[in-house]
Amino acid sequence: MQKSRKRKQLELDHKPQSESDSGTKLTKDPYPTHTRPTREECIAVRDDLLALHGFPKEFAKYRRDENQIQFDDGDAKETVLDGLVKTVLSQNTTEVNSLRAFDSLKSAFPTWEEVLAAESKCLENAIRCGGLAPTKASCIKNILSCLLEKKGKLCLEYLRDLSVDEIKAELSQFKGIGPKTVACVLMFNLQLDDFPVDTHVFEIAKAIGWVPALADRNKTYLHLNQRIPNELKFDLNCLLYTHGKLCRKCTKKVGKQQRKESHEISCPLLNYCKNSLYEIKLINSI
Ligand SMILES: [Zn+2]
Repeated sequence: MQKSRKRKQLELDHKPQSESDSGTKLTKDPYPTHTRPTREECIAVRDDLLALHGFPKEFAKYRRDENQIQFDDGDAKETVLDGLVKTVLSQNTTEVNSLRAFDSLKSAFPTWEEVLAAESKCLENAIRCGGLAPTKASCIKNILSCLLEKKGKLCLEYLRDLSVDEIKAELSQFKGIGPKTVACVLMFNLQLDDFPVDTHVFEIAKAIGWVPALADRNKTYLHLNQRIPNELKFDLNCLLYTHGKLCRKCTKKVGKQQRKESHEISCPLLNYCKNSLYEIKLINSI
């Protein structure tokens, strides 16, 4: 059955790479008869979560309208390559640890040329606090060497001129880069309309019946990308992610990553539960 696996490998290891898979599978809805979420429901959920949490500060700088604004604290604007590496480092770890790993990497090797030239062990040591250091280090090195070979420089800004499908095809060529990483780069770094499905979004989507109860994560990604109106994707995604982290009623992971305030909030998503499954889960979790 659909048991959530603790993945010890990066995404691409589970992803088909053949030519025939790439085009159609990226855009096809695996659940065409599942008519939720509706547009109205997306708007209502967004508004309810916005009223509850406000817009999460850490994502505000990635919003399309604010794209031209200088980043917080006078930081230079995050490049697409920065964003891709940050997303790689964020896999299978907490946000705090992955950001720490990125900062440590940049402080040890300020340029991507230096990262590429570094000994693998040194690279691993620099990102060790983000977990899975050998896998992530080799993934990052591979991205950089492929990029240098193909484009002659360590830069992904050329993606800004491509279509969503072209960008997906380009990024998916790198070993270790799967649909969720691509979706994050599309949404956060390229300000395009995509809807990444991380653990929190996945659990909530299943719990409130936006996908069939036995849906897997990739099918959830494909379905939600078809159903959720483009203009709502960014805000809704950030809000669901934030809510999933804070609300124990929406996730099965009580304990480990809970914040102190988590038990205080009442969950507005209760109102969207049209499936008894969610009610049963809630009753069991109280
Ligand atoms: Zn909740």
